[in-house]
Formats: sequence, structure tokens, C-alpha cells
Amino acid sequence: MKILFVSSEVFPFSKTGGLADMGNFLPKSLKKIGYQMIVVTPYYKGIEKYHKDMEYVFTRAIVFGNQREEVHYYKLDNDGVETIFVQNQRFFERDNYYGYNDDAMRFILFSYAALEFIDSMDIPPHIIHCNDWQSATIPYLLDEHYRMWDKYRNIHTLLTIHNLEHQGVFGLDKAQYFNRSFDYTYTHFNSINYLKTGIERATKINTVSPNYRNEILTQEFGFTLDGALNKRSSDLIGILNGIDFEVFDPRTDKLIKENYNLSNFISNKAINKKDLVTKFKFNNKNAPLISYIGRMAHQKGIYLMEHTLERVLNETNANFIILGTGDAHYENYFKYLEDKYQGRVLYYHGYNEPLAHEIYAASDIFLMPSLFEPCGLGQMIAMRYGTIPVVRETGGLKDTVEPYNEYTNKGTGFSFYDEHPEVFKNILMNAINLYNNDQTRWHQLMRRAMRNDFGLEKMALEYSKLYKIIVEG
Ligand code: ADP
Repeated sequence: MKILFVSSEVFPFSKTGGLADMGNFLPKSLKKIGYQMIVVTPYYKGIEKYHKDMEYVFTRAIVFGNQREEVHYYKLDNDGVETIFVQNQRFFERDNYYGYNDDAMRFILFSYAALEFIDSMDIPPHIIHCNDWQSATIPYLLDEHYRMWDKYRNIHTLLTIHNLEHQGVFGLDKAQYFNRSFDYTYTHFNSINYLKTGIERATKINTVSPNYRNEILTQEFGFTLDGALNKRSSDLIGILNGIDFEVFDPRTDKLIKENYNLSNFISNKAINKKDLVTKFKFNNKNAPLISYIGRMAHQKGIYLMEHTLERVLNETNANFIILGTGDAHYENYFKYLEDKYQGRVLYYHGYNEPLAHEIYAASDIFLMPSLFEPCGLGQMIAMRYGTIPVVRETGGLKDTVEPYNEYTNKGTGFSFYDEHPEVFKNILMNAINLYNNDQTRWHQLMRRAMRNDFGLEKMALEYSKLYKIIVEG
């Protein structure tokens, strides 16, 4: 089966978040199980360093609204996956990927360009797999402008929602880009809404965890699209993301001090911890090491940490290591904490892949108290490294972390539901107390966490099932 996979981010060419990882992992893992995957993505600034390995394919003029834009297609073999870059220097080669006044124009151009590319294919794809708002107009444009051509007649579409918060909302004047007289399919609350357009028209829709799939049907998590999603609930599926064991596996990870597995993790994980706490000059090298790696964003529940960590520092021996950038308010909080608790708190400001690996391998407890979380990769990586997650019971966090039960001695992490600092603090204190007072149980907990299988293979098989359902009707 042939799939045209359209994503506005594909690692290593572009990345702002999890979408880029999935833009890489999904096509690769589906190719492994026999799918012909062709990836389409914008040619952003920075991608020119790959240009020497690309092959020019063709050029096409696209007319939408009162615009006429040329796009050039370049082809690259990305580890066996054919990747097509859509080039239009003026639109895509800027300092950032998003956040411009003409984003509506830029990403509908990208979507038209993906559809136009099919015209150059000998055999069209069975499915166009769209990802998030940037390519969510494709199912509509396909229906309205391309269906009459033989090549396009039988193409199905899948829309994967990686994060419902970002929808591509624009003023009604952008309606002209759809090249159709006004239509409520693409409007929502008196605005143009690209994601809603895809929700209305895609053959099937999926989110990146089963629990988030259910949550987005509610007003609390629906970001105003719960109504539109409920209308399509029988076509809405949840498929858990996976993590790449070629990148994140303590047995083989070349970025960590000492590799470890299920039989030597107790001694070898400790070597990683000793190395990191020594490097960052922590005072008490044996104290529980608690980490956070991620965006400094409201979504991540950082305000729960903001009202809690200082008291935890005062009441326990715990040390903290924080890695990430984002909202200045949260960054300043962690800088403050680092200044005040020297030798106990380390805040590294920046994006640092090698350090992230070192932290996953070295720390004992990993924080992820997100307010909402479509899937979350951090907690899955942490567990793989025997680092026990403390999470809020939401989205994919609920699907992946089984709460520790002291009576049955089961579970793989600690979790709480009420979005309240006291509740978060209590559960974090439980984790710290177990670490400090019962190492035998802690090691059993680590072993169970490490045994989880959140691999890409499992995820690919789920998408494969969905592709078959889509094509077979
Ligand atoms: P989201 O996609 O919402 O940002 P996820 O947990 O799904 O959150 O994925 C985040 C990924 O990015 C994880 O693999 C995490 O380790 C990585 N990451 C986040 N911030 C940083 C950082 N500052 N340095 C290195 N890796 C990071």
C-alpha cells in the first residue's frame, strides 16, 4: 500500500516538537512493515545543508485566492524513505517555521503542493496521511478540486491530531484561499479553522493516545472542537505513539556514561548518576535526583511545580535537574530556584539532546504533571531508563503510567488527578519517601518501568490496521 505522508515537521530536517519525531518515526516504521511511504514536507531555511543530496523533481504553479505561487519539488532518500521537499523560498525559508501573519497562505500553499505532487506520480497513493492543522485542509481541497481527475478519485485521507491546542485559526478574509464560494466546512466561531476543516472531511481521524481520544470529546479538553469531533466520533481512533529504541535504549545509548540492562541496572544506572551529579557539583550525591525535561509551557503543568518544589527542597534531601526553554516566567522561576539552592538545583537553559539522554539515565524521578498531554514521550523514555515518572492522570500519561500501589506492589510510576499543587506535592513526597526508605521496592518499581514496551513496532502495527480499515471501507 502506498501512503503520502504530509507533515510540516520531519526530524532531522525540521523540529519544534513531537510532531517532528513522529514525522520521522512513523514513515520509517511503516516502511519496515511493508508500506511504501512518501513523505512531503516544506523546504525550510536550514534544510539547504541537505541540498547536495537532493534531486530536483519538477516545478508547479499553484493558484489560490488571488495568489499565484511556484513551488519546486526536491527529492531526498532519508534512510530509505523517499522525502519530497516543497520549496518556495519566499514562503518557507524564514527564521522560524510558524508565527507569521501569512501562515494561512503558507500552509494552504503547502497543502495544495502536496496534492499537486500526486499528479507527478505514476501510481497515486491509497491514502494521504495528514498531520495537524498545517496539512488539515488537504481532505477538503481534495474533495473540492481534485476528485474529478482519475488519479485522485479513490484516494482516502487520514488526519492525525498530535495536539488539538493548535488549530490554524485565521480571519474570514482567508476564505478565498480555498478557491470556493463561502462554505461553513472551514469556518468555526466566525473564523477560518484549518484543523476543523480536516475533522469535517478526513476519511478517518486519530489522536496519539487512546485516552486523549476520549478526552478531546469533552468540553474540558476539546479546545472548542469537541462538537465537531463528537460528530465524527465513530471515525476517531486513539493510537499510542512509540519511542525509538535505536535512540532511547539504556543498553546501547552512546550518549550516556554507562550502558545498563535489566540485570545490571542497579549498579550501572548509579554510575550515570554519580557522573552527572559530580559534573554539576551537587552537594549530596546520593540524594534522590528529580528531573524535568521539556518545553516551559502552560500545558506542562509547570505552575504545579512552581508552587511546590521549594517546599519539597526544604522538607526533603531531593536534588533537581531541569532542562528546557519556553515561557520567560517559568524560565525565571527555575533560575531563581537554581540561585537559591546552589548545589541542589541545576537549571540548564536550552535544547540539548546529549544532556537529555544523560539526565534520563542519571535521575531517579521524572516529573510530568501536564494539564493535558496528547501522548507524551518524556515519561515513556524515562521509564525505559528506569527513571520513575510522576505524572498527572491525563491523555497519554494515563495510558502509559500505571500508578504504584503499595498494597499490591504493582505499578510503574506515581500519578495524581486533581490539578492542585498540594496533591502534586503529596504524590511527589510519596515517591521521594519510597526512594529514601525502601530501596528494594524502588528497584522492583524500576524493573517494572523498564520492562514496558512502548516501541515503534507496536505503533506501526496499529497504524497499519487503521490504513487497512480506511482502504477497505
Ligand atoms: P511535546 O511534544 O509536547 O514537546 P513530548 O514529551 O511529547 O512533549 O516530547 C518532547 C521530546 O523532546 C522528548 O523526547 C524530550 O526528551 C525532548 N525534549 C524536550 N525539551 C528538550 C530539551 N530542552 N533538550 C533536549 N530534549 C528535549
